[in-house]
Amino acid sequence: MNATPDPASYAAPVRRMTNAVRVGAITIGGGAPIVIQSMTNTDTGDDLATAVQVAQLARAGSEIVRITVNTREAARAVPKIRERLAAMGQEVPLVGDFHFNGHKLLTEVPECASVLSKFRINPGNVGKGVKRDEQFAQLIEIACRHDKPIRIGVNWGSLDQDLLARIMDENGKRVRPKDATEIMREAMVTSALESAARAEEIGLPANRIVLSCKVSGVQDLIAVYRDLAARSNYALHLGLTEAGMGSKGIVASTAAMAVLLQEGIGDTIRVSLTPEPNGDRTREVIVAQEILQTMGLRAFTPLVAACPGCGRTSSSYFQELAQDIQNYVRERMPQWKIERVGVENMSLAVMGCVVNGPGESKHANIGISLPGTGEAPVAPVYVDGERVTTLRGDNIAGEFRQIVDDYVQRKYLRKIA
Ligand code: SF4
Repeated sequence: MNATPDPASYAAPVRRMTNAVRVGAITIGGGAPIVIQSMTNTDTGDDLATAVQVAQLARAGSEIVRITVNTREAARAVPKIRERLAAMGQEVPLVGDFHFNGHKLLTEVPECASVLSKFRINPGNVGKGVKRDEQFAQLIEIACRHDKPIRIGVNWGSLDQDLLARIMDENGKRVRPKDATEIMREAMVTSALESAARAEEIGLPANRIVLSCKVSGVQDLIAVYRDLAARSNYALHLGLTEAGMGSKGIVASTAAMAVLLQEGIGDTIRVSLTPEPNGDRTREVIVAQEILQTMGLRAFTPLVAACPGCGRTSSSYFQELAQDIQNYVRERMPQWKIERVGVENMSLAVMGCVVNGPGESKHANIGISLPGTGEAPVAPVYVDGERVTTLRGDNIAGEFRQIVDDYVQRKYLRKIA
């Protein structure tokens, strides 16, 4: 029997309510739109290269950018990076990523602490034994003094070994001990929650704390964040660590994050893609935007629907047109965003033949159906469901772009300056 799906079951997920954390001018959590962030891969000591990459990431849509602060040179470069960004008119908040020596660097270079908008602290890499608690406390005191939020970023590759040993001991005394995977997940969540509780005891309010527990396995990430969400109201940063390269990294990140986002879990996301050699670092930002946009959680740029093509397509022309128009709207979007209200919600369709072409094109704001094998060499164009014109000849791409431009001018109200 075919059950009719309940339309309400397709409603946008209800976000889990968390503490709102201000990071510069951006809010993470508390029901604010899910924030996209990214991280540079330049040597932070090279302030010019780092500022250029931060600006590229921010222009691509990264709302917060994290930079490694691992040496005195890197810490000293941070104020210069901020100055360079100011000269470029770029105010994106910067997060400093600290491991092992963060307490020293932030003490020795207080200007670094004051220009950063957040510190990321890995409780597994703060120090060993007695020093761990001391150095963690020092970092939190610096955050309190400079009025900065922190992210307690647990990573399964650098889990606090003392805590892991304690949890394994406790597990050994259980009647039914948990298996190694469950213990690893429990240790991660415990590390994040105990560190957050310690930070609050030292004086950092809950609304200055973001938590993350990064793993590289999809099922581990889902399990860990469900647990974290059930046990606290802290704002959560989602992301797989070491997601990988190319399609593997994109698929794994999407599979894991989509499940959690659909359950309302996650206030900020990062897609940790390994760029191909000389690859574009901004790809991780585009992927993050597309995850949120295709799930209906946020809109950034008009997306182009395109059919996959099949034996009915006479050439690769429709794929080229789909690519061309997607690149074109991405290029135009920064200007449209300044001038027009709501353009990011526009939908476009580029279809390969008449089988599904007209139908899909009618569902988009603007759609074009290209001729398939044996079809007349003409391309009907649909605007808001109505066939408005038919393109033919050598300049279909140029004329289609013009139709998109005209539609934006006509349909989306000009913003009031
Ligand atoms: S729309 Fe036409 S070309 Fe595209 S996949 Fe369907 S049948 Fe093939």
